[in-house]
Amino acid sequence: MIPVLVINSGSSSFKYQLLDMATERTLASGLVERIGEPVGVARHTVYATPTDGPAPAFLDATRTRELPIPDHTAGFAVMLDAFAADGPSLDEQPPVAVGHRVVHGGARFFEPTLITPLVEINIDELSVLAPLHNPANLAGIHAARRAFPDVPHVAVFDTAFHQTLAPAAYTYAINAEVAASHRIRRYGFHGTSHKFVSEAAAAFLGRPLGELKQIVFHLGNGASVTAIDGGRSIDTSMGFTPLEGLVMGTRSGDIDPAVLFQLQRRAGMDVDDLDDLLNKRSGLLGLAGSNDLRDIRAGIERGDERAILAFQVYVHRLRAYAGAYLAQLGGADVISFTAGVGENAPLVRSGALETLGFAGVEIDHERNESPDRGIRVISTDASPVTVLVVPTDEELEIARQTLGVSRA
Ligand code: AMP
Repeated sequence: MIPVLVINSGSSSFKYQLLDMATERTLASGLVERIGEPVGVARHTVYATPTDGPAPAFLDATRTRELPIPDHTAGFAVMLDAFAADGPSLDEQPPVAVGHRVVHGGARFFEPTLITPLVEINIDELSVLAPLHNPANLAGIHAARRAFPDVPHVAVFDTAFHQTLAPAAYTYAINAEVAASHRIRRYGFHGTSHKFVSEAAAAFLGRPLGELKQIVFHLGNGASVTAIDGGRSIDTSMGFTPLEGLVMGTRSGDIDPAVLFQLQRRAGMDVDDLDDLLNKRSGLLGLAGSNDLRDIRAGIERGDERAILAFQVYVHRLRAYAGAYLAQLGGADVISFTAGVGENAPLVRSGALETLGFAGVEIDHERNESPDRGIRVISTDASPVTVLVVPTDEELEIARQTLGVSRA
């Protein structure tokens, strides 16, 4: 047994997962939320039966507790209580390392990094670039280091995988001095997932990662697509922040920046209004009233014109990026879909690729519609480009990287 604990900390909640890296199986997971509110909620799930895939098939027990959780440190005490009460016992099998998801590693962190006081200072300093995320990630790191003072803690950055982008791909065509003094460039996000999926795809196909040109669509509530050449990210749709690129659940993705000037000048919106509009009130939600693709699908079936248009806009953007990345890569060997929408919405997958026959992409509609879980092919046997659905597992990827660093 090689237990590794993975922490994904937000400002008022954190998720955790305990994995046995001898088998890469999840032993327990949980969510501590509403930290700082009068009543917090802690959910702890223990997986009794070994499972084959990333999604555990048999739940032994989930216990939900409601109690005041004033801060992250108190949240970690609640988590430790849950392990003590419901197992597995961390006294008997303490984690050998703790991995932390950190959203922004700027241009400084290009690989998973052992957390030292200096690394914490650097993550804090990068809060300028990710004011909502990095302070929340740090709160989790501080609390976890107090709870597990004797094991290595490792930061795994969402941006790290994209540090291989060439200057041509990460540079915005704005005034160079302004960009340099404010560190304005494309960083890219969802890197842990893009890395996991591209490696899983290569392993599944039994082909060397270094030889493959891949496009990975991570389509969840947040969404991004990455062009990966020989295992290296060469282009990605999210940029300075996770707002750029694809249409998302509540985010607009790409938009002419002059729209913001117009809304500021003509609609009296200030910068916070615009931030809120583009990050929280746009995307599928802004177009059709729900950020959930299941609702959009139901709307399409009812003939709701807003839902139909939202879907068309969503798919139009996917196609535009698919074409762009085929061009950047000079063709692709593999195209993969992952995350909530990518794994569960055949209509999105076929919509994104149906015009790409000329580039060697042939979807097998029966395979695409199959309700199978797990990694699977959805292109025809004759298709020059292999199209896959690959369930992502960011926690497993963080645990792998954490173990790698803590053993180095
Ligand atoms: P994620 O951020 O990866 O958890 O993805 C969440 C999103 O996936 C939800 O907001 C839905 O839009 C989408 N989703 C989840 N399950 C399904 C499903 N069965 N069919 C279509 N979309 C789904």
